[in-house]
Amino acid sequence: MAGRNHLFIPGPTNTPHSVLSAMHVPMEDHRSPDFPKLLKPVLEDLKKIFRTESGQAFIFPATGTAGWEIALTNTLNPGDKVLIYRFGQFSHLWMNMAQRLGFDVEVHEVEWGKGIPLDHLEERLKQDDSHEIKAVLATHNETSTGVTSDIAGVRKAMDAANHPAFLFVDGVSSIASIEFRMDDWGVDGAISGSQKGFMLPAGLAIVCFSQKALKATETSTYPRAFFDLKDQMNANKDGYTPYTASTPMIHGLRKALDLLLEEGLDNIYARHARLAEGTRKAIAAWGLKLCAQPGWESNTVSAIVVPEGKDARDVLSTAYNKYDISLGAGLTEVAGKVFRIGHIGDMNDVSMLGCIAGVEMALLDNGYDITAGSGVAAAIEYYRTTA
Ligand code: PLP
Repeated sequence: MAGRNHLFIPGPTNTPHSVLSAMHVPMEDHRSPDFPKLLKPVLEDLKKIFRTESGQAFIFPATGTAGWEIALTNTLNPGDKVLIYRFGQFSHLWMNMAQRLGFDVEVHEVEWGKGIPLDHLEERLKQDDSHEIKAVLATHNETSTGVTSDIAGVRKAMDAANHPAFLFVDGVSSIASIEFRMDDWGVDGAISGSQKGFMLPAGLAIVCFSQKALKATETSTYPRAFFDLKDQMNANKDGYTPYTASTPMIHGLRKALDLLLEEGLDNIYARHARLAEGTRKAIAAWGLKLCAQPGWESNTVSAIVVPEGKDARDVLSTAYNKYDISLGAGLTEVAGKVFRIGHIGDMNDVSMLGCIAGVEMALLDNGYDITAGSGVAAAIEYYRTTA
């Protein structure tokens, strides 16, 4: 098919040409005296994205999933109690990992379409007067349902309960796209990956830890090896990595950081909010609903529920095979019930309009009762008047 496949999945996101070009470099010696000149500023600039001055950023050759494990195994002791709300596939997987690693996982089920219930959290932490709960695991942006939780509110609830647990946040599909403030929100471990807001290929777990969390690495007895933050700290202080660095990825990250910092974080948050709102206007014009309930909508991904009797996989398949656009599939409990539009990363008004037009064609082809052009018209109106 002529043209190119258009990627509207919520990760991997589109990699800007300048980032791809920056990665197109010969291999180099990661133990050379020049390597620290690349790595040290990258680690420093990452802190700006996490919005922390006191925290420390790390890069592991891994993915976001590793970030969950890094947080748990570096700070806790075997069998420690952790609390998690499960409201989508990624909070499910984090819960499942904590269980498989032998932690005592207190799981609270929340309807898929909502996020962390702050009142419940505060109450539960107040009851825990012996402070058995050692960490709260919060999924900031649940990519499977398009739900964003209020992490500032989580911190408030923890403070209201005067609870000393660590706050670990999965920001894989929020950091560098949706407002995230590590220091202001008292986040002890912020977890991300290279393939979403950072606009790179998958392959780096990008994480940041508070001084409180780093101190805990000295006493934590949980067995760990590859993911030991102490090895990273030892090597990073001189500008090196404990194992072979993926140098092209670090060059790509350098360029991505330049782009992000040049645009400015507040502008990036505003751009994602606008692109998401235009997409939501189109969805409403089609008469379709989000999986996210009102107030929980994500600015990086919209999960769209198909009416009873329809299978969302048909929309995905038409979109891919006939129109060469990739949309996000519904995962596990919502497979066939939702399809997802990623509006994250290197996107602008016209890229979103291309996506909305493609989705509209795929919906019409699958017998959805929508008016041709209605979604595009709604989005155009919104983008024109808010540009
Ligand atoms: N957490 C969230 C919210 C995600 O969206 C994803 C992946 O999409 C992950 C964790 C897992 O990240 P990875 O696939 O990079 O391991």
